[in-house]
Amino acid sequence: MSSEPTQTSVYVHFPWCARKCPYCDFATEPIRANAVPHEGYADAVLRELGARAADLQGRQLKSIFFGGGTPSLWGPNALNRTLQGITSAFELVSDELEVTVECNPSSLTRENAALLREAGVGRLSVGVQSLRDSHLRFLGRLHDSKRAVAALREAIDEMPRVSADLMFGMPGQTLAELGEDIARIADTGVEHVSAYALTIEEKTMFGSLHRAGKLRVAPEEQYADLFEHAEECFADLGWTHYEVSNYSAEGQESRHNLHYWRGGAYVGLGAAAVGCLDHGPGRAERWRNDPNPQRYLEQDTLGAEVEELGPEEIIREALMLGLRTIDGMNLAATEKRAGRDPKIGREREVERALERGNLVQAGDWLRVPQDRWLKLDGIVRDLF
Ligand code: SF4
Repeated sequence: MSSEPTQTSVYVHFPWCARKCPYCDFATEPIRANAVPHEGYADAVLRELGARAADLQGRQLKSIFFGGGTPSLWGPNALNRTLQGITSAFELVSDELEVTVECNPSSLTRENAALLREAGVGRLSVGVQSLRDSHLRFLGRLHDSKRAVAALREAIDEMPRVSADLMFGMPGQTLAELGEDIARIADTGVEHVSAYALTIEEKTMFGSLHRAGKLRVAPEEQYADLFEHAEECFADLGWTHYEVSNYSAEGQESRHNLHYWRGGAYVGLGAAAVGCLDHGPGRAERWRNDPNPQRYLEQDTLGAEVEELGPEEIIREALMLGLRTIDGMNLAATEKRAGRDPKIGREREVERALERGNLVQAGDWLRVPQDRWLKLDGIVRDLF
């Protein structure tokens, strides 16, 4: 009897940006446009893919996500070569393969979008962050609101599916300003938005300014008000708040991210990329590639840090990711992956959360109701 192929996603990290944004703690370095090693980076990623070939046996490719960093700085030919290499490394490819590329308005051109479309990319995720010039300047972005809207329109013209990244919680931002951003984004035809609160991360320029008392930040209540207002605005559009930070029109959810939040297998390629594959019930291996782009380019063997995950780590990850989504975490699927019942060892904590209404169980699904999502981190922490 042949077993079902394991659905697997691929994440490719592109580790450079035109400029480092002052709030960003992603693994990315600034680079001049003429210094990007387009083909060299494609060669390095394909070399890594070749070294991971044995791990890809018996798997079906479900989605590919080019993230970063700013993958729209990568030459379309080099990105295309990488994309073709990945699809041909899998024996089976889903008929509904989803391929997404993250772009910045300052480096997305209509011509590049068309080339990506021809290469098989079907979805662009555009980092507009705001449509208000004062907020974009505060965030240190290279584009203004006019360029952001133009980039969304160009993306919509060339691609079947477009998502926009939006930030909220800039000091002094009003509910009306956020509502206006959402309405203007939806007006371009975009049908998916990832909306993130601005957080001050320690190892960033904003982190240093904040420690020195030189950065104005929004008070906690403002975040909560903005989060709730965003929810109302998207509900008025008829969109679903399907994950804490993600909203979509019907059928426009990110299949790649849903797979990840549901504990699906994923291969991470590129500098700083993370991957995780199961090796039987209760056993998984997570790797983290060398974050230094130069060393990654030069390595000829896998230079990743590897971590073995046992049943408890698998369950905790399933709780952390699954409970972020509207459906929640699937208990039966998690039990199958972890090799044991995820409730064992936390019966009292689960019971208490159910009594308080912080958790709801329906059949095999355990979820946090949407009106408790602002307290999600604490609810999940109590289950650890
Ligand atoms: S463009 Fe995006 S990934 Fe690059 S530094 Fe800015 S926020 Fe970070």
